[in-house]
Amino acid sequence: MNLFVYVLIFLIGASLGSFFELVSERLPREQDVVFTPSHCNSCQMRICYYDLIPIFGYINQRGRCRFCDQTISAQSLVYEMIGGFSSCWFYYYFTDFNIYGGLLLTMLYYAAIFDQQHRYVDQIILTLMFVCTILFQYASLRAAFIPALLAALVLIILSKITNGLGPADIELIIILILGYGFQTALWITLLASLFVLLSHLHHAINIEIAFIPYFYLAFLLLPVLPTS
Ligand SMILES: [Zn+2]
Repeated sequence: MNLFVYVLIFLIGASLGSFFELVSERLPREQDVVFTPSHCNSCQMRICYYDLIPIFGYINQRGRCRFCDQTISAQSLVYEMIGGFSSCWFYYYFTDFNIYGGLLLTMLYYAAIFDQQHRYVDQIILTLMFVCTILFQYASLRAAFIPALLAALVLIILSKITNGLGPADIELIIILILGYGFQTALWITLLASLFVLLSHLHHAINIEIAFIPYFYLAFLLLPVLPTS
């Protein structure tokens, strides 16, 4: 029974990953995301319903469009796998994450995929995270307000001097401070920075890095942080 629940949750998370990729591909091009069926980007043929099943659809087609044989990007498979595994992780640690953590995790995943593809994040998603934080964490907002304000000041000045953090990254850190307090936010930011450094050890320093995907991975570790 338990395994069945996890398989179901994995599939829901994988479908979310697939949907977020579709939205972040179509939205900047001002294409419809609800009524236009999924189609092959090369031959425009509509994708069969059984090929839309996350992960299995990719394996079933052997990574190629069944009409024109064009390779399907393995990136979709990665987004679906990460979506699936992190949903199971979230379900396992639900008491640590709770509803607010779940909402933040979901929005952060969308922002991570969007950032990975376009190297920026839509302000709407950050505003939604702010609103969620105010609604769910209003009890602790007063205590976190001064640290958040100070951190915002320091980070804005730092980013002006170093060109390192983007405005979306700073907003995200502020959201984390307001939602979880200074210590937890610092842990998540440090871990995200560590992940960036580790995965860019052999790269040039001056490349533009999508930071939100690393934030997402660090945020997943929330239940096992020393502060939790
Ligand atoms: Zn095709």
